[in-house]
Amino acid sequence: MNIILLGPPGAGKGTQAQRLVEQRGMRQLSTGDMLRAAVKAGTPTGLKAKAVMERGELVSDEIVSALIGDELDAMGAGEGAIFDGYPRTAAQATALDTILTQRGRSLDHVIELDVDEDQLVERITGRFTCANCGKGYHDRFEQPRQPGICDKCGSTEFKRRPDDNEQTVRTRMAEYRAKTAPILPIYEARGIVTRVNGMADIDDVTRAIETVLGG
Ligand code: ADP
Ligand code: ADP
Ligand code: ZN
Repeated sequence: MNIILLGPPGAGKGTQAQRLVEQRGMRQLSTGDMLRAAVKAGTPTGLKAKAVMERGELVSDEIVSALIGDELDAMGAGEGAIFDGYPRTAAQATALDTILTQRGRSLDHVIELDVDEDQLVERITGRFTCANCGKGYHDRFEQPRQPGICDKCGSTEFKRRPDDNEQTVRTRMAEYRAKTAPILPIYEARGIVTRVNGMADIDDVTRAIETVLGG
């Protein structure tokens, strides 16, 4: 099974992808995570992407589609893919079709996380992750069970993203509205879109997605 989680920054794509990975053994393919790794490693891709990401604008379609192709090539044929934060433009949606077809895969579901934009700034400015395992948290909505200790790996180091500030979030939301939301009709025409209420509690969103994906 191959699915896309679609929604604006802070909608809960990464949170839900991490749960699907644990519950269903699927793989999360987050272009944001791949780009941040490239920036950290100082690769040519990272050098090109860094300033663009800091501004909250979109990195080029060629760069992100190449990352996705490489990541799929590293996966087992039986492993399902969760596309998180990709595709983000019509050109990326077209590229994904080709990338999947070339590898004998197809898209089963596009889950649209429907959220109230007014609340996204709070979601994003309160977001942090475990520096060791990457598990996502929130200052108000998803704190570690024991303060300061990661639920998953026990690490006591956490980090925040430099682009998770109000100014950049506004740019990212504008990019979403202008370039990403318009790709939904492509998938609606194929009858594979399900809209899920992303404002519900994290566990309820997970249950709604499980219902869509089935057994
Ligand atoms: P995205 O990957 O779509 O940008 P995240 O999954 O990182 O979004 O979620 C953004 C922040 O909001 C995180 O700190 C996360 O813990 C929190 N969050 C995610 N889903 C919910 C939800 N349904 N209700 C409240 N907070 C949430
Ligand atoms: P979020 O879901 O919280 O908005 P991501 O981690 O998905 O954040 O993306 C962070 C940044 O990485 C984006 O603002 C953009 O600069 C870049 N990026 C990630 N995925 C893509 C993509 N598919 N196309 C272009 N740029 C991307
Ligand atoms: Zn951890």
